[in-house]
Amino acid sequence: METRYCLECGEPVHGRSDKKFCSDQCRTTYHNRLHAESNEFMRRVNAILKKNRNILARLNPSGKAKVSREKLLSKGYNFNYHTNIYKTKTGNRYFFCYDMGYLPIDKDMFFLVHRQEYIG
Ligand SMILES: [Zn+2]
Repeated sequence: METRYCLECGEPVHGRSDKKFCSDQCRTTYHNRLHAESNEFMRRVNAILKKNRNILARLNPSGKAKVSREKLLSKGYNFNYHTNIYKTKTGNRYFFCYDMGYLPIDKDMFFLVHRQEYIG
């Protein structure tokens, strides 16, 4: 029979063949750490989304504005992250970070919008 080792501490595991941890404590420690890592990941993503949202808001105080890609990048905008995409009947795709969004127009230009209510 093959010796199995605890996923947390690496000590040999005795008992049932589906046991993955040497003790309840190791199992708890292991799952707590996994949980902490996924929380940390979500925290980082949320921070990027909030930063994006605030950049859009600052560049769009009146609710409608036009800005260049360069301008957004210079403020630290991260185009890889958005909360949702709104597609209009005419096929335009608005990218939103919460309530603030943009529509790519022309080359490297963006039309900024502020969404008053939730749409789709
Ligand atoms: Zn262990």
